Amino acid sequence: MAGSRSDAPVVIAVAITGSVPRKTDNPAVPVTVPEQVESTQQAFEAGATLCHIHVRNDDESPSSDPDRFAAVQEGLRRHCPGMIVQFSTGGRGRDPAARGLSLRHRPDMASLSTGSVNFPTIVYENSASLVTDLAGQMKQYGVRPEIEIFDLSHLHGAKRLVEAGLIDARPHVQFVMGVQNAMPAEEHLLDILLAETRRILPEATWTAAGIGRNQAIVMDWALARGADAVRTGLEDNIRVTKDRLAASNAELVGLAAEAVARHGRRVATPAEARAALGLG
Ligand code: ZN
Repeated sequence: MAGSRSDAPVVIAVAITGSVPRKTDNPAVPVTVPEQVESTQQAFEAGATLCHIHVRNDDESPSSDPDRFAAVQEGLRRHCPGMIVQFSTGGRGRDPAARGLSLRHRPDMASLSTGSVNFPTIVYENSASLVTDLAGQMKQYGVRPEIEIFDLSHLHGAKRLVEAGLIDARPHVQFVMGVQNAMPAEEHLLDILLAETRRILPEATWTAAGIGRNQAIVMDWALARGADAVRTGLEDNIRVTKDRLAASNAELVGLAAEAVARHGRRVATPAEARAALGLG
């Protein structure tokens, strides 16, 4: 796993929308389904091979509407052939009981948080029973999870799911760094997380997400350690510099592709991305 694939192509994941940024923060944030499909197509053409999706209500608030998720998926399958479609089952402002409703549409992947953590203004609650329930639904519908690691204990939450037979022994894990009140973006913490992942989930593939101004530096740390994937997108960061908003998800993907090249690696094709993340 971790660190052993420094010559392998790198999956670029793009988190196009998220729960938080609004049009008033950056008008390029796609919130309607057509905007999401168009923004993703541009990102796909720039090298992204995995799209992490949240959907919004008409007032831009976070939604769990399975029909909206299905509509985005349909658009991506048409306009971004081979791209990995990943629905979020997390995010702020969603009823826990509704967070898994979209799984019945059988996306390739879905995010799965395996523990609770403080966020800027709320507790991001993921009770053990909710985690088990979501993992069970993913197994039922053949959806591959991406395990979201906001804290070291969440790795052990993933290990418990492996032991329970709810996920396989080769999960894809994402370390999320730089959320206010959660795990800070510090390089030595990534080494601690990787060491523990190697110890308890030795077959895992991995990536890391740096939030806000941490996006580029966390990507560099991940690439320097042989990450299987990197993550970018307007969900995590709406700027390219302190003074300039990102023009699009595609612009952020372009910066990620440059970072991949700087580390002597190349960007994965859709088929390579699917093989790397166990999607066949
Ligand atoms: Zn998300």
